Amino acid sequence: MPSSGPESIAVIGAGVSGCAFVAQLRRLGYTGTFSLWETGRGPGGRASTRRSRQDRGLRIDHGAPLLNITGAMEPLLLQPLLAGGWIEPWPGLIAQLQGEATLRPGQADALGLGQLYRGRGGMDHLCKGLLSLAGEAGEAWQPHYGTLVRHLDWKDGLWQLLDREGELLGQAHWLVLSSTLLAHPRSRQIFGWEEVPLKQAAERLGDLRLEHALTVIAGIRAEARSNLLVLLEAAAAGPWASLPFSLLHFDAAAQQRWGLQRITVQPLSDGRCAVVAHSSHSFAADHLDVYGTHSAVARMLQLPPDEGREDTVIAALTTALEQVMAPWLPGLNLATADRQLMRWGAAFPLAPGLPSELSCCPSSRVGFCGDFIAGVGFGRIEGALRSGEQLAHELCALA
Ligand SMILES: Cc1cc2nc3c(=O)[nH]c(=O)nc-3n(C[C@H](O)[C@H](O)[C@H](O)COP(=O)(O)OP(=O)(O)OC[C@H]3O[C@@H](n4cnc5c(N)ncnc54)[C@H](O)[C@@H]3O)c2cc1C
Repeated sequence: MPSSGPESIAVIGAGVSGCAFVAQLRRLGYTGTFSLWETGRGPGGRASTRRSRQDRGLRIDHGAPLLNITGAMEPLLLQPLLAGGWIEPWPGLIAQLQGEATLRPGQADALGLGQLYRGRGGMDHLCKGLLSLAGEAGEAWQPHYGTLVRHLDWKDGLWQLLDREGELLGQAHWLVLSSTLLAHPRSRQIFGWEEVPLKQAAERLGDLRLEHALTVIAGIRAEARSNLLVLLEAAAAGPWASLPFSLLHFDAAAQQRWGLQRITVQPLSDGRCAVVAHSSHSFAADHLDVYGTHSAVARMLQLPPDEGREDTVIAALTTALEQVMAPWLPGLNLATADRQLMRWGAAFPLAPGLPSELSCCPSSRVGFCGDFIAGVGFGRIEGALRSGEQLAHELCALA
Protein backbone atom coordinates (compact mmCIF):
# COMPACT_ATOMS: atom_id res chain seq x y z
CA MET A 1 0.00 0.00 0.00
CA PRO A 2 1.65 3.32 -1.01
CA SER A 3 2.41 5.55 1.93
CA SER A 4 3.99 8.97 2.10
CA GLY A 5 5.77 8.48 5.47
CA PRO A 6 7.91 11.25 6.97
CA GLU A 7 9.25 13.83 4.52
CA SER A 8 12.89 12.96 5.12
CA ILE A 9 14.81 10.40 7.17
CA ALA A 10 18.48 10.24 8.14
CA VAL A 11 19.60 6.64 8.71
CA ILE A 12 22.83 6.12 10.62
CA GLY A 13 24.54 2.86 9.72
CA ALA A 14 24.56 0.76 6.54
CA GLY A 15 24.69 -2.65 8.20
CA VAL A 16 21.97 -5.24 7.64
CA SER A 17 19.32 -3.46 9.72
CA GLY A 18 19.82 0.02 8.22
CA CYS A 19 19.81 -1.42 4.69
CA ALA A 20 16.75 -3.60 5.46
CA PHE A 21 14.97 -0.54 6.81
CA VAL A 22 15.43 1.50 3.63
CA ALA A 23 14.66 -1.49 1.38
CA GLN A 24 11.38 -2.11 3.16
CA LEU A 25 10.51 1.61 3.19
CA ARG A 26 10.67 1.65 -0.59
CA ARG A 27 8.73 -1.58 -0.92
CA LEU A 28 5.98 0.04 1.17
CA GLY A 29 5.83 2.90 -1.32
CA TYR A 30 7.62 5.52 0.78
CA THR A 31 7.84 8.67 -1.30
CA GLY A 32 10.07 10.89 0.86
CA THR A 33 13.84 11.20 0.78
CA PHE A 34 16.43 9.53 2.96
CA SER A 35 20.14 9.71 3.52
CA LEU A 36 22.34 6.84 4.71
CA TRP A 37 25.42 7.61 6.82
CA GLU A 38 28.12 5.00 7.29
CA THR A 39 31.58 5.31 8.76
CA GLY A 40 32.81 2.21 6.90
CA ARG A 41 33.96 2.27 3.27
CA GLY A 42 30.76 0.58 2.09
CA PRO A 43 27.66 -1.23 3.32
CA GLY A 44 27.81 -4.38 5.45
CA GLY A 45 28.74 -3.50 9.03
CA ARG A 46 29.33 -6.71 10.95
CA ALA A 47 28.27 -8.68 7.85
CA SER A 48 30.84 -7.11 5.56
CA THR A 49 33.56 -8.50 3.32
CA ARG A 50 37.18 -7.45 3.22
CA ARG A 51 38.17 -6.56 -0.34
CA SER A 52 41.13 -4.77 -1.89
CA ARG A 53 41.47 -2.49 -4.92
CA GLN A 54 45.03 -3.76 -5.40
CA ASP A 55 44.09 -7.44 -5.10
CA ARG A 56 40.84 -7.98 -7.01
CA GLY A 57 40.58 -11.65 -6.08
CA LEU A 58 40.68 -10.99 -2.34
CA ARG A 59 37.42 -11.57 -0.52
CA ILE A 60 37.24 -12.39 3.17
CA ASP A 61 34.03 -12.51 5.17
CA HIS A 62 35.66 -11.26 8.36
CA GLY A 63 32.47 -10.84 10.41
CA ALA A 64 29.38 -13.02 9.97
CA PRO A 65 30.08 -15.83 7.47
CA LEU A 66 26.42 -16.82 7.03
CA LEU A 67 22.88 -16.06 8.14
CA ASN A 68 20.32 -18.46 9.54
CA ILE A 69 16.56 -18.07 9.54
CA THR A 70 14.79 -19.70 12.46
CA GLY A 71 11.44 -17.88 12.75
CA ALA A 72 8.23 -19.57 11.57
CA MET A 73 7.61 -16.73 9.09
CA GLU A 74 10.64 -15.80 7.03
CA PRO A 75 11.69 -12.12 6.82
CA LEU A 76 9.80 -10.32 4.03
CA LEU A 77 13.02 -9.32 2.29
CA LEU A 78 14.43 -12.85 2.08
CA GLN A 79 12.70 -13.95 -1.13
CA PRO A 80 13.48 -10.68 -3.01
CA LEU A 81 17.14 -11.13 -2.04
CA LEU A 82 17.14 -14.73 -3.28
CA ALA A 83 15.28 -13.81 -6.47
CA GLY A 84 17.79 -11.03 -7.19
CA GLY A 85 20.70 -13.45 -6.79
CA TRP A 86 22.14 -11.46 -3.86
CA ILE A 87 22.08 -14.37 -1.43
CA GLU A 88 22.11 -18.13 -1.91
CA PRO A 89 21.66 -21.24 0.22
CA TRP A 90 24.82 -21.85 2.24
CA PRO A 91 26.68 -24.71 0.52
CA GLY A 92 29.20 -25.54 3.26
CA LEU A 93 29.67 -28.37 5.73
CA ILE A 94 29.20 -27.67 9.44
CA ALA A 95 30.85 -29.63 12.23
CA GLN A 96 31.33 -29.19 15.95
CA LEU A 97 34.55 -29.67 17.86
CA GLN A 98 33.96 -31.14 21.29
CA GLY A 99 36.62 -30.86 23.98
CA GLU A 100 40.17 -31.51 22.81
CA ALA A 101 39.59 -32.99 19.36
CA THR A 102 36.30 -34.88 18.96
CA LEU A 103 34.60 -34.00 15.68
CA ARG A 104 30.79 -34.14 15.38
CA PRO A 105 29.94 -33.68 11.68
CA GLY A 106 26.61 -31.97 11.00
CA GLN A 107 26.18 -30.73 14.59
CA ALA A 108 25.10 -27.05 14.46
CA ASP A 109 25.26 -24.33 17.12
CA ALA A 110 22.73 -21.49 17.54
CA LEU A 111 24.21 -19.71 14.50
CA GLY A 112 23.78 -22.78 12.31
CA LEU A 113 20.16 -23.76 13.00
CA GLY A 114 17.28 -23.35 10.54
CA GLN A 115 17.66 -22.33 6.90
CA LEU A 116 21.21 -21.23 6.10
CA TYR A 117 22.20 -18.61 3.53
CA ARG A 118 25.20 -16.52 2.57
CA GLY A 119 25.84 -13.46 0.43
CA ARG A 120 26.46 -14.63 -3.14
CA GLY A 121 30.02 -13.55 -3.93
CA GLY A 122 30.63 -12.30 -0.38
CA MET A 123 28.54 -11.47 2.68
CA ASP A 124 28.54 -7.77 1.76
CA HIS A 125 26.23 -8.67 -1.15
CA LEU A 126 23.45 -9.11 1.38
CA CYS A 127 23.53 -5.37 2.17
CA LYS A 128 24.24 -4.43 -1.45
CA GLY A 129 21.15 -6.44 -2.42
CA LEU A 130 19.04 -4.68 0.19
CA LEU A 131 20.18 -1.30 -1.13
CA SER A 132 19.34 -2.37 -4.68
CA LEU A 133 15.79 -3.02 -3.44
CA ALA A 134 15.74 0.59 -2.21
CA GLY A 135 16.27 1.73 -5.82
CA GLU A 136 19.04 3.64 -7.55
CA ALA A 137 20.81 6.20 -5.40
CA GLY A 138 20.03 9.67 -6.69
CA GLU A 139 17.65 12.43 -5.75
CA ALA A 140 15.48 10.20 -3.56
CA TRP A 141 18.32 8.82 -1.48
CA GLN A 142 21.99 9.40 -0.94
CA PRO A 143 24.61 7.13 0.64
CA HIS A 144 27.50 8.77 2.52
CA TYR A 145 30.24 6.22 3.16
CA GLY A 146 33.42 6.92 5.11
CA THR A 147 31.50 9.45 7.21
CA LEU A 148 31.31 9.26 10.98
CA VAL A 149 28.33 11.08 12.48
CA ARG A 150 29.79 12.42 15.71
CA HIS A 151 27.19 14.85 17.09
CA LEU A 152 23.41 15.11 16.94
CA ASP A 153 21.28 18.17 17.44
CA TRP A 154 17.58 18.97 17.24
CA LYS A 155 16.88 22.36 15.72
CA ASP A 156 13.76 23.94 14.23
CA GLY A 157 11.98 20.58 14.01
CA LEU A 158 14.85 18.84 12.25
CA TRP A 159 17.51 16.36 13.36
CA GLN A 160 20.94 17.67 12.52
CA LEU A 161 23.91 15.36 11.93
CA LEU A 162 27.32 16.85 12.59
CA ASP A 163 30.91 15.70 12.10
CA ARG A 164 33.83 15.76 14.56
CA GLU A 165 34.39 19.47 14.01
CA GLY A 166 30.71 20.25 14.55
CA GLU A 167 30.16 20.93 10.83
CA LEU A 168 26.68 20.12 9.53
CA LEU A 169 26.60 16.91 7.48
CA GLY A 170 22.88 16.75 6.85
CA GLN A 171 19.44 17.11 8.42
CA ALA A 172 16.11 15.31 8.31
CA HIS A 173 12.68 15.14 9.93
CA TRP A 174 13.34 11.68 11.38
CA LEU A 175 16.48 10.09 12.79
CA VAL A 176 17.00 6.32 12.59
CA LEU A 177 19.87 4.73 14.51
CA SER A 178 20.80 1.24 13.34
CA SER A 179 23.60 0.98 15.90
CA THR A 180 23.87 1.84 19.58
CA LEU A 181 27.14 3.75 19.09
CA LEU A 182 25.59 7.23 19.47
CA ALA A 183 23.25 6.12 22.25
CA HIS A 184 25.39 3.96 24.54
CA PRO A 185 27.82 5.07 27.27
CA ARG A 186 30.49 2.74 25.80
CA SER A 187 31.23 5.50 23.25
CA ARG A 188 32.58 7.58 26.12
CA GLN A 189 34.94 4.81 27.20
CA ILE A 190 36.06 3.77 23.72
CA PHE A 191 36.32 7.14 22.06
CA GLY A 192 36.83 9.35 25.09
CA TRP A 193 33.75 11.36 24.08
CA GLU A 194 32.48 13.66 26.80
CA GLU A 195 28.83 12.90 26.20
CA VAL A 196 26.54 10.24 24.74
CA PRO A 197 25.44 12.14 21.61
CA LEU A 198 21.77 11.12 21.46
CA LYS A 199 21.31 11.39 25.23
CA GLN A 200 22.56 14.95 25.21
CA ALA A 201 20.23 15.94 22.36
CA ALA A 202 17.31 14.04 23.94
CA GLU A 203 17.60 15.87 27.26
CA ARG A 204 16.11 18.95 25.64
CA LEU A 205 13.18 17.08 24.07
CA GLY A 206 11.43 15.74 27.18
CA ASP A 207 10.24 12.56 25.39
CA LEU A 208 9.74 9.97 28.13
CA ARG A 209 9.66 7.07 25.68
CA LEU A 210 13.01 8.08 24.20
CA GLU A 211 14.48 8.52 27.67
CA HIS A 212 13.23 5.05 28.60
CA ALA A 213 14.74 3.59 25.42
CA LEU A 214 18.08 5.26 26.16
CA THR A 215 18.09 3.88 29.70
CA VAL A 216 17.52 0.35 28.39
CA ILE A 217 20.17 0.76 25.68
CA ALA A 218 22.68 1.95 28.28
CA GLY A 219 22.26 -1.41 30.04
CA ILE A 220 22.89 -3.56 26.94
CA ARG A 221 26.21 -5.37 27.13
CA ALA A 222 27.97 -7.03 24.24
CA GLU A 223 30.51 -9.80 23.66
CA ALA A 224 33.71 -9.07 21.75
CA ARG A 225 35.61 -11.23 19.27
CA SER A 226 39.25 -11.11 18.14
CA ASN A 227 39.42 -12.70 14.72
CA LEU A 228 42.53 -13.98 12.98
CA LEU A 229 42.36 -13.63 9.20
CA VAL A 230 44.73 -15.90 7.29
CA LEU A 231 45.26 -15.71 3.55
CA LEU A 232 46.83 -18.84 2.06
CA GLU A 233 48.47 -18.88 -1.35
CA ALA A 234 47.16 -21.46 -3.83
CA ALA A 235 50.12 -23.78 -3.19
CA ALA A 236 49.16 -24.07 0.49
CA ALA A 237 45.37 -23.95 0.03
CA GLY A 238 44.74 -27.45 -1.37
CA PRO A 239 44.46 -29.47 1.86
CA TRP A 240 41.97 -26.95 3.32
CA ALA A 241 39.55 -27.65 0.45
CA SER A 242 39.34 -31.35 1.38
CA LEU A 243 38.50 -30.86 5.06
CA PRO A 244 35.32 -32.53 6.36
CA PHE A 245 33.97 -29.06 7.27
CA SER A 246 34.03 -25.48 6.04
CA LEU A 247 32.64 -24.15 9.32
CA LEU A 248 33.89 -25.68 12.53
CA HIS A 249 32.35 -24.42 15.75
CA PHE A 250 33.61 -25.20 19.23
CA ASP A 251 31.59 -26.41 22.20
CA ALA A 252 32.18 -24.78 25.61
CA ALA A 253 34.99 -27.17 26.57
CA ALA A 254 36.72 -26.74 23.22
CA GLN A 255 36.42 -22.94 23.49
CA GLN A 256 38.04 -23.03 26.88
CA ARG A 257 40.79 -25.37 25.64
CA TRP A 258 41.62 -23.49 22.43
CA GLY A 259 40.42 -19.90 22.96
CA LEU A 260 38.53 -20.20 19.66
CA GLN A 261 34.80 -20.26 18.91
CA ARG A 262 34.70 -20.89 15.17
CA ILE A 263 36.88 -21.51 12.14
CA THR A 264 35.55 -20.71 8.68
CA VAL A 265 37.29 -21.88 5.53
CA GLN A 266 36.62 -19.65 2.51
CA PRO A 267 38.13 -20.84 -0.80
CA LEU A 268 38.76 -17.97 -3.26
CA SER A 269 38.05 -18.25 -6.99
CA ASP A 270 41.77 -17.92 -7.90
CA GLY A 271 42.82 -21.00 -5.91
CA ARG A 272 43.82 -19.17 -2.74
CA CYS A 273 41.96 -19.75 0.50
CA ALA A 274 40.99 -17.46 3.37
CA VAL A 275 40.65 -18.91 6.85
CA VAL A 276 39.05 -16.91 9.66
CA ALA A 277 39.53 -18.08 13.24
CA HIS A 278 36.98 -16.40 15.53
CA SER A 279 38.22 -16.15 19.11
CA SER A 280 36.13 -17.16 22.08
CA HIS A 281 34.49 -14.37 24.04
CA SER A 282 36.86 -14.83 26.96
CA PHE A 283 39.97 -14.66 24.74
CA ALA A 284 38.67 -11.39 23.24
CA ALA A 285 37.82 -10.02 26.71
CA ASP A 286 41.41 -10.69 27.82
CA HIS A 287 42.78 -8.76 24.82
CA LEU A 288 40.17 -6.02 24.54
CA ASP A 289 42.68 -3.20 24.26
CA VAL A 290 44.41 -4.71 21.22
CA TYR A 291 42.36 -3.31 18.35
CA GLY A 292 44.16 -4.61 15.30
CA THR A 293 45.38 -2.07 12.78
CA HIS A 294 42.56 -2.98 10.39
CA SER A 295 39.66 -2.79 12.86
CA ALA A 296 36.94 -0.18 12.36
CA VAL A 297 37.69 1.43 15.73
CA ALA A 298 41.38 1.83 14.90
CA ARG A 299 40.39 3.53 11.65
CA MET A 300 37.78 5.75 13.30
CA LEU A 301 40.12 6.84 16.08
CA GLN A 302 43.14 7.01 13.77
CA LEU A 303 45.00 5.00 16.40
CA PRO A 304 48.73 4.45 15.92
CA PRO A 305 49.48 0.74 15.36
CA ASP A 306 50.66 -1.16 18.43
CA GLU A 307 52.43 -3.82 16.41
CA GLY A 308 54.13 -5.46 19.37
CA ARG A 309 50.89 -6.29 21.20
CA GLU A 310 49.06 -7.06 17.98
CA ASP A 311 51.77 -9.54 16.99
CA THR A 312 51.41 -11.28 20.36
CA VAL A 313 47.66 -11.76 19.87
CA ILE A 314 48.16 -12.90 16.26
CA ALA A 315 50.80 -15.40 17.44
CA ALA A 316 48.51 -16.81 20.16
CA LEU A 317 45.61 -17.28 17.74
CA THR A 318 47.93 -18.75 15.09
CA THR A 319 49.30 -21.33 17.53
CA ALA A 320 45.77 -22.31 18.57
CA LEU A 321 44.73 -22.66 14.93
CA GLU A 322 47.80 -24.74 14.01
CA GLN A 323 47.33 -27.06 16.97
CA VAL A 324 43.58 -27.53 16.68
CA MET A 325 43.87 -28.37 12.97
CA ALA A 326 46.64 -30.93 13.57
CA PRO A 327 44.36 -34.03 13.26
CA TRP A 328 43.44 -32.98 9.70
CA LEU A 329 46.46 -30.88 8.68
CA PRO A 330 49.45 -32.38 10.53
CA GLY A 331 52.52 -30.14 10.68
CA LEU A 332 50.54 -27.04 9.68
CA ASN A 333 52.82 -24.01 9.83
CA LEU A 334 51.26 -20.60 9.20
CA ALA A 335 54.35 -18.53 10.00
CA THR A 336 54.75 -17.31 6.42
CA ALA A 337 51.03 -16.89 5.63
CA ASP A 338 49.54 -13.40 5.44
CA ARG A 339 47.83 -12.90 8.83
CA GLN A 340 45.85 -10.00 10.26
CA LEU A 341 43.89 -9.29 13.41
CA MET A 342 40.33 -7.99 13.26
CA ARG A 343 38.82 -7.07 16.61
CA TRP A 344 35.06 -6.64 16.96
CA GLY A 345 34.48 -4.73 20.21
CA ALA A 346 30.71 -5.30 20.17
CA ALA A 347 30.28 -8.45 18.08
CA PHE A 348 27.14 -9.85 19.71
CA PRO A 349 24.72 -7.92 21.96
CA LEU A 350 23.58 -9.79 25.05
CA ALA A 351 19.89 -10.39 25.79
CA PRO A 352 17.37 -9.05 26.59
CA GLY A 353 18.01 -6.02 24.32
CA LEU A 354 15.65 -3.14 23.56
CA PRO A 355 11.94 -4.13 23.62
CA SER A 356 10.49 -3.59 20.14
CA GLU A 357 7.76 -1.31 21.52
CA LEU A 358 10.51 1.20 22.40
CA SER A 359 12.08 1.13 18.93
CA CYS A 360 9.88 3.91 17.59
CA CYS A 361 9.63 7.26 19.45
CA PRO A 362 7.20 9.42 17.44
CA SER A 363 7.30 12.56 19.63
CA SER A 364 11.02 13.00 19.22
CA ARG A 365 11.01 11.38 15.75
CA VAL A 366 13.66 8.81 16.57
CA GLY A 367 13.66 5.17 15.48
CA PHE A 368 15.98 2.30 16.37
CA CYS A 369 16.70 -0.86 14.42
CA GLY A 370 19.46 -3.43 14.73
CA ASP A 371 20.23 -6.85 16.14
CA PHE A 372 19.98 -5.32 19.64
CA ILE A 373 16.17 -5.11 19.33
CA ALA A 374 14.53 -7.97 21.27
CA GLY A 375 12.71 -10.59 19.21
CA VAL A 376 13.27 -13.51 16.84
CA GLY A 377 16.86 -13.51 15.61
CA PHE A 378 18.17 -11.27 18.41
CA GLY A 379 21.95 -10.80 18.11
CA ARG A 380 21.98 -12.26 14.59
CA ILE A 381 21.45 -11.14 11.02
CA GLU A 382 17.91 -12.48 11.13
CA GLY A 383 17.07 -10.09 13.98
CA ALA A 384 18.75 -7.18 12.18
CA LEU A 385 16.68 -7.87 9.05
CA ARG A 386 13.43 -8.20 10.96
CA SER A 387 14.01 -5.05 13.04
CA GLY A 388 14.64 -2.96 9.90
CA GLU A 389 11.48 -4.29 8.27
CA GLN A 390 9.43 -3.68 11.41
CA LEU A 391 10.58 -0.08 11.85
CA ALA A 392 9.80 0.70 8.19
CA HIS A 393 6.22 -0.51 8.75
CA GLU A 394 5.88 1.59 11.91
CA LEU A 395 7.12 4.77 10.28
CA CYS A 396 4.93 4.34 7.22
CA ALA A 397 1.92 3.69 9.46
CA LEU A 398 2.52 7.00 11.25
CA ALA A 399 2.21 9.09 8.12
C1 LIG B 1 32.73 -12.09 14.10
C2 LIG B 1 31.23 -12.11 13.96
C3 LIG B 1 30.59 -13.27 13.54
C4 LIG B 1 29.20 -13.29 13.40
N1 LIG B 1 28.60 -14.43 12.96
C5 LIG B 1 27.26 -14.42 12.71
C6 LIG B 1 26.61 -15.54 12.11
O1 LIG B 1 27.23 -16.56 11.81
N2 LIG B 1 25.27 -15.46 11.89
C7 LIG B 1 24.54 -14.34 12.20
O2 LIG B 1 23.33 -14.31 11.95
N3 LIG B 1 25.14 -13.26 12.76
C8 LIG B 1 26.47 -13.28 13.02
N4 LIG B 1 27.07 -12.18 13.57
C9 LIG B 1 26.23 -11.05 13.98
C10 LIG B 1 25.79 -10.23 12.77
O3 LIG B 1 26.94 -9.83 12.07
C11 LIG B 1 25.00 -9.03 13.27
O4 LIG B 1 23.88 -9.49 14.01
C12 LIG B 1 24.46 -8.14 12.14
O5 LIG B 1 25.38 -7.98 11.10
C13 LIG B 1 24.08 -6.81 12.78
O6 LIG B 1 23.62 -5.88 11.82
P1 LIG B 1 23.18 -4.44 12.32
O7 LIG B 1 22.70 -3.67 11.16
O8 LIG B 1 22.25 -4.59 13.47
O9 LIG B 1 24.49 -3.76 12.95
P2 LIG B 1 25.89 -3.41 12.30
O10 LIG B 1 26.30 -4.43 11.32
O11 LIG B 1 26.81 -3.16 13.45
O12 LIG B 1 25.63 -2.05 11.51
C14 LIG B 1 25.67 -0.77 12.10
C15 LIG B 1 26.47 0.13 11.17
O13 LIG B 1 26.41 1.47 11.66
C16 LIG B 1 27.64 2.10 11.43
N5 LIG B 1 27.71 3.22 12.38
C17 LIG B 1 27.49 3.16 13.72
N6 LIG B 1 27.57 4.38 14.26
C18 LIG B 1 27.85 5.23 13.25
C19 LIG B 1 28.05 6.65 13.19
N7 LIG B 1 27.97 7.39 14.29
N8 LIG B 1 28.31 7.21 11.99
C20 LIG B 1 28.37 6.45 10.86
N9 LIG B 1 28.19 5.10 10.87
C21 LIG B 1 27.93 4.50 12.05
C22 LIG B 1 28.66 1.00 11.70
O14 LIG B 1 29.88 1.28 11.05
C23 LIG B 1 27.95 -0.22 11.12
O15 LIG B 1 28.32 -0.45 9.77
C24 LIG B 1 28.45 -12.12 13.70
C25 LIG B 1 29.10 -10.95 14.10
C26 LIG B 1 30.48 -10.94 14.22
C27 LIG B 1 31.17 -9.66 14.63
